[in-house]
Amino acid sequence: MSSEKGNAKRSRPQKYKNLHGFKNTLHDTSRRTKQINSIEVKDCCARCTEIIEWKIKYKKYKLLAAPRKCVRCEEKTVKQAYTVACNSCAEKLKICAKCNQEKDKVAQSGLSAAEEASQAAQMEQELKALPERKRRKCEDDSS
Ligand SMILES: [Zn+2]
Ligand SMILES: [Zn+2]
Repeated sequence: MSSEKGNAKRSRPQKYKNLHGFKNTLHDTSRRTKQINSIEVKDCCARCTEIIEWKIKYKKYKLLAAPRKCVRCEEKTVKQAYTVACNSCAEKLKICAKCNQEKDKVAQSGLSAAEEASQAAQMEQELKALPERKRRKCEDDSS
């Protein structure tokens, strides 16, 4: 009985082929979402990168309308949302573009590259599971 019902629910049209691993475009295929999804967090410490990545994944990320003034070189060169320093200053001074602290210092309490990678992979998996879980919940509710 319920198996037929499940079949009917699956006839959702798939208009776009998702080239990215993540599927937060499942219900939102707008250009802005795609653009945000393609963002790579740069020149931030592990913690800040994580924070921004979560914003991207859960669609809390807002793009900068215009470049902001960098706290270091005072040029309007900050193009990355949520950051206070521009990429070239962050690279040159080895600081995090978001919290404006020396990366080496921040890294003390942070993660090693390997840990970081494994955490990123874990996050990826969690996110992959998320829309599915949500979908299942929706189906449960409506049936
Ligand atoms: Zn700068
Ligand atoms: Zn930081």
